[in-house]
Amino acid sequence: MIYERKRLFIGLLIVSLLAVCMLAVAIWYLVFSPESSVVYKLVLLAVDAVLIIAILLAGFGLAGIVLTLVRSKPLALLQGPVRVALNTFFPLVLILGKLLSIDLNRIKRSFIEVNNNLVRAMHISAAPDQLLLLAPHCLQSSTCTHKVTGNVDNCRRCGQCMVSDLLRLRDHYGIRVGMATGGTLARKYVRDYRPKAIVAIACERDLTSGILDANPIPVLGVTNLRPHGPCHDTQFSYQRVDEAIQYFLRNGSDCI
Ligand code: SF4
Repeated sequence: MIYERKRLFIGLLIVSLLAVCMLAVAIWYLVFSPESSVVYKLVLLAVDAVLIIAILLAGFGLAGIVLTLVRSKPLALLQGPVRVALNTFFPLVLILGKLLSIDLNRIKRSFIEVNNNLVRAMHISAAPDQLLLLAPHCLQSSTCTHKVTGNVDNCRRCGQCMVSDLLRLRDHYGIRVGMATGGTLARKYVRDYRPKAIVAIACERDLTSGILDANPIPVLGVTNLRPHGPCHDTQFSYQRVDEAIQYFLRNGSDCI
């Protein structure tokens, strides 16, 4: 299991915010350039106004993220800006990471770590039927002939892959389980089950997009294990998923 520190994502978020600040200053400078026409100046002013609003919201959001992580308690007032900072600046953080030649999966793991800590700080509780466990179809053994994506109960629980473990968790806790082939099916499970909270197993790419998509539904993300390469006979840490489920059901223990 590879863990990534929260500070990588937060550091890149700060640098992205500074880069946008510098862009806003440069545009402001152009507005007062004597060579610019009035129309051009008005367009630049409008762009700068949008940038300044985004900077302010993201700045408060960043403060909200840091304070929530430090205090392990959410700040209700800053929940909106926190969402803006995560949703709007996440693509910028990835672009910046690419420019700095940082492995994108490292950045995504750091983002998942930040997200999981923010979710834990919210101390959300969910009844078993309000909790959805979402898993990718690549967990299924590539030699299995049973179609489990539409209906996970088609699994014969032979134990050859970890789909049987998903069913074990479902039956033990009475939660809902969905196996998705991609974002469209995952969104359908969320629409159909209307969960209060989600535990999601996926690769870094699908987890980050899923966490952002599901917002404001809280998601605890667990990255999958890929001993046979990406998207092929993947696995998951049973213990980490079990602990994430227990976190929502018990509400409050700091367990993943
Ligand atoms: S555990 Fe279920 S999904 Fe996995 S190989 Fe056996 S029958 Fe197929």
